[in-house]
Order: sequence, then C-alpha cells, then structure tokens
Amino acid sequence: MTDRLALLRDLGVLADVPAPGPGGEARYDANPEMHHHFVCRRCGRLHDVPPDWFPVSIPAGVQTGFSVEHFRIVAEGVCSECAAQPTA
Ligand SMILES: [Zn+2]
Ligand SMILES: [Zn+2]
Repeated sequence: MTDRLALLRDLGVLADVPAPGPGGEARYDANPEMHHHFVCRRCGRLHDVPPDWFPVSIPAGVQTGFSVEHFRIVAEGVCSECAAQPTA
C-alpha cells in the first residue's frame, strides 16, 4: 500500500472492504456513498450494489456497548456476466 492510499483511507475517502481479492490482496473502495457489495465467486470482481438491495437495520441490542456507525454487506454469488458464460 502506498502512503497516499493510507492517507486517503485515514481521511475516510476510501473504506476498507472486508473482501480480499482472489490473491488475498486488500481492496480499497473509492465510492464513499452508502452501499453494499456483491462479490462474484467466479471472476472475483467486486460490484457496488445499492443499499436497498439489503434493507437491513441494526437491532437496538447490538448498539449496547457499541456505537455502530455503518456496516456493509458483502453478498457472494455469480455475476450476470459469469452466469452467461458456460461453465468450463
Ligand atoms: Zn463474475
Ligand atoms: Zn464499494
């Protein structure tokens, strides 16, 4: 990781995404808007998806002792491009 990336992450411009790539490398997200992710298990690509795909709220009990500011859902499956490809 470059210093510049670390700086951007510290500023909150980039968010760590809990979805390592196929090689285990960290990914950084340039999209600061609230959104969730879809990871294709065939091509490994990470897609941004709108939050209304997963209309989930944080139950009040979860906040006991924690202050949850945001969360992201990472859905896994097969993207439309891969779904259109015949399996090898
Ligand atoms: Zn795919
Ligand atoms: Zn994203």
